[in-house]
Amino acid sequence: MHKTMIPDELQFAINLMAGCATITRNVQQKHIIQQNKADRSPVTIADYAVQAYVAQAILQSYPDDVMVGEETGNLLLQDESLLDEVTDQVKAILPDSKHDQVIAWIDHGQSQPVGRYWVLDPVDGTKGFLRRMQYATALALIEDGEVILGVLGCPNLPYADQVGVMAYAYHDQGAWWLPYNQQTQTTPMRVSEIKDLSQFRILRSFEDSHTDSSRIDSFARHAGVTVDPVRMDSQAKYFLLAGGQAELSMRLLAPERTDYREYIWDQAPGYRVVLEAGGTITDTDGKSLDFSTGRRLTNNRGIFSTNGWIHEEVLKVLQQL
Ligand code: AMP
Ligand code: MG
Repeated sequence: MHKTMIPDELQFAINLMAGCATITRNVQQKHIIQQNKADRSPVTIADYAVQAYVAQAILQSYPDDVMVGEETGNLLLQDESLLDEVTDQVKAILPDSKHDQVIAWIDHGQSQPVGRYWVLDPVDGTKGFLRRMQYATALALIEDGEVILGVLGCPNLPYADQVGVMAYAYHDQGAWWLPYNQQTQTTPMRVSEIKDLSQFRILRSFEDSHTDSSRIDSFARHAGVTVDPVRMDSQAKYFLLAGGQAELSMRLLAPERTDYREYIWDQAPGYRVVLEAGGTITDTDGKSLDFSTGRRLTNNRGIFSTNGWIHEEVLKVLQQL
């Protein structure tokens, strides 16, 4: 795919990322760095404001499309000061925004995931956002259960010689990355060539409660991996896997939450980026991810994602533990 031939929907999704990063960075500046005595979680403000911004753009450009986002506007109806704060953040990009519009935009994300729908995680990795570490704004388009495109905006991620990068991918067309501050500089993404398991760089959740840390450690020991797994929040992990800076990203069911099934917005955008860069993603049973089951991946348990060369072999090591 040549740059001049980027499909409209993909270009639209890429274009949104700059505004989303403006919001998340502004909220971080105002509510985390300046340590304002906000009675609100900064995450809540950023989540709502990004979802409102993306939803209004989808309503304007693709009025017939469904949108599925993490947030609902209900809470804002009962909380004037929170609504004020969220609206202020949206106004940084859309100066004429009004309270009732902001709520309606957010609620657009409550549609049922059927047919063709956009999937948004406004701030993926909320804990990383609060720690001023890694987070992502993740957007995908799904049609008939197929992830058509995925975009990962990672405003804090160091990659190559840049800090703040985004990845985008389109079904069967490839994956690219670009820095936020030089948007003409697009580069294809390719997974690493490493095929020796003992050399694998492993990515895992920063939050212990989102995974099974002791099983990951035991996997690493059995695989003869000597480097400690890298802990990182959000789908920024998929960026690094697709970009050749890691070989494996795994998400094991937490022992206290074995019934947990992934939300589509936590997987769909990164899934398309990793596949187009040459990687492989399955669940921990080796099954392909089934995005046709609504807001959650009810047919899949855990996620196992590699640079693709010896995926089944590596998965077997995990399964045999
Ligand atoms: P990560 O930053 O990779 O740990 O993923 C963050 C995402 O994990 C959040 O957006 C949540 O939707 C999701 N999450 C929350 N609880 C769990 C859990 N018990 N197991 C797996 N994922 C979870
Ligand atoms: Mg998330």
